[in-house]
Amino acid sequence: MSASRRRTDAPVAVVDLDGTLCDYDGAAARDVARALGGDRVSAATRLRIERLVTSQPGWWASLKPLPTGFRILRLLRGMGFRLAVLTKGPAGSHGAWSEKVAWCARHLPDADVTVTHDKALVHGRVMVDDWPEAIEGWLRWRPQALVLMPAQPWNRGFRHPNVRRIATAKDLARAKPGLAAIARG
Ligand SMILES: [Mg+2]
Repeated sequence: MSASRRRTDAPVAVVDLDGTLCDYDGAAARDVARALGGDRVSAATRLRIERLVTSQPGWWASLKPLPTGFRILRLLRGMGFRLAVLTKGPAGSHGAWSEKVAWCARHLPDADVTVTHDKALVHGRVMVDDWPEAIEGWLRWRPQALVLMPAQPWNRGFRHPNVRRIATAKDLARAKPGLAAIARG
């Protein structure tokens, strides 16, 4: 167990999984396309197929890590943050909940893990998340918190005074002074 986990007085950074640390969207798009075999279907049918392919045993556990998310994680770990994965569990698939925990045990064994229906319930001083709606819901109760948002096509236009969008190493370096202030307490 690493030092960041043992330090229970350290400031907490909550870190999302899908679209932040693991490539849900890439894997879902690939497997839905494979299932459709070029057929055109409605958005509702597409969603049903996505639910089917993602509910295959082992699907969530085999998702690939995303480099930007892990670069952010390394920085936070080095600055002494306590790492806590904070991920939404799909309502209809409890198998996914346990596979998310298994994924964390394999890829970031020093982090705590919370799988929840509502991220706003969980405490932290820093959030790492790609999804604007989740960020706004969480910040509503923590107006002083800082959010690092890994760049994704779906968050391109999102602006918020507490949010730093991270696409490059330079973006991450720019976020460092704010993180250091929080790490100092
Ligand atoms: Mg996400």
